[in-house]
Amino acid sequence: MENINALHESFWESSLLELKKTLPSHAIGAWFEPIVPKELRGNVIKLEVPNAFFCDWINSHYKKQLIGALYNSSGKKIHYEFIVSTKEPDVSSSTLSSPSAQEKKQSFMSRNNVNRQYRFDNFIEGSNNEFAKNAARAVSENPGSNNFNPLIIYGGVGLGKTHLMHAIANGAIEKNINTNAVVVTSEKFTLDFVNSLRKNKTIEFAQQYRSADLLLVDDIQFFRGKEQTQEQFFHTFNVLYQNGKQIVMTTDTSPEQMQGLQSRLLSRFNSGLSVDVQPPNFELRVAILLEKAEQNKLTLDYKAIEFIARHIKNNIRDLEGTIIRILAKSSLLNREIDFDLVNSVVKERAGGKVYGDITMEDVVKKVSRMSNIPPKEIIGKSRKMEIVEARHMSIYLCREIIGASLSSIGIHFGGRDHTTIMHSINQVNNKIKSDIKVNDSIVNLKEQIEELL
Ligand code: ADP
Ligand code: MG
Repeated sequence: MENINALHESFWESSLLELKKTLPSHAIGAWFEPIVPKELRGNVIKLEVPNAFFCDWINSHYKKQLIGALYNSSGKKIHYEFIVSTKEPDVSSSTLSSPSAQEKKQSFMSRNNVNRQYRFDNFIEGSNNEFAKNAARAVSENPGSNNFNPLIIYGGVGLGKTHLMHAIANGAIEKNINTNAVVVTSEKFTLDFVNSLRKNKTIEFAQQYRSADLLLVDDIQFFRGKEQTQEQFFHTFNVLYQNGKQIVMTTDTSPEQMQGLQSRLLSRFNSGLSVDVQPPNFELRVAILLEKAEQNKLTLDYKAIEFIARHIKNNIRDLEGTIIRILAKSSLLNREIDFDLVNSVVKERAGGKVYGDITMEDVVKKVSRMSNIPPKEIIGKSRKMEIVEARHMSIYLCREIIGASLSSIGIHFGGRDHTTIMHSINQVNNKIKSDIKVNDSIVNLKEQIEELL
């Protein structure tokens, strides 16, 4: 079977997702993401760590969580064993000597920090992220030399910010192999700074970051309240900016809404471009599921894909996690991947809620109650503005919540063809963005429909 080789990998990925539920992201980034799963045999997983320090640290700080995560993603007790990697050690912990050695190490480090899996070619585009993707690509092609400096990518969790950031670095390195792209999380930046203070190496710290051609800092919201780190970052920012170097940052809110960052830092951000990533709509969710299933060599029929897309809606990480979970569950329990298995994974991940039982009538009824327009009118032919609006909303919700096909919606709404239905959905999509009242009504209706479950 194809999947068997990747079993330890998919199992580890699913354990990582479990860990993410219990540990802060800096712990995941620092201690768990560097781990490479090597083998899963019986109930023992072998995990390769970069150095012996990892074993001690994880055992003394995160043992319980790790065991718990392994348990949760398999349903049985799995033991772990560490293997210490024999590859070149992590340079950030070794001392920096001559400049040329430092340069060499630095380029090694920067390449190392860039996740090769996060590229533009596997970043799926939809209306929620296309602007962000285009801006990121422009920056990646000409770092520092357009007006998008700094580039700030903001939005909720799991929507692709980190992916885009690494894609920028990958793209820039691909174009020019000598690009010194320094990718760092804000926690790592803080940690490096604190360590440099402790070891009297602030000059090296400054050099390391200020020699970047492209500095990419992930999740800068964690600079919040860290005055001294912000101070350092401010200086680093200025030096790079003045030398025409590119800075890219990601964060959870738009710069205008950012709190806890010094205003002089925020005002620097205004000179560049901020772009947002929004939650994926139904079509993008389907596209992403198809892609992720293929990447993981998982064959799912379209019905299963639609079913997942209908229920797992908030972010892309969840969609990906669902695919991995399906794989892991099927491998570990030695079960065929059938609709029942998919259903059970989705139920588990969606917190027990599935929309399978809601009908288009239910949706229309809810809209009718809210708008005071009888269901018959909603699915009828009237062109009166408020009726058309209620109709559009109903159609949108049938698609979004039930995931009904365009033609079946068309049939339910008095025999309209699929392009008309598509048009209605687009109208609502546009209005949600521009009209807060429409947005509120949709949110409200979704809540009411969820109550039916
Ligand atoms: P964020 O940093 O916004 O929390 P990530 O960049 O970590 O989100 O994305 C979460 C996961 O979803 C990653 O594995 C990423 O590769 C994947 N992902 C996000 N957006 C897309 C997309 N548009 N196409 C393909 N994969 C995506
Ligand atoms: Mg991220």
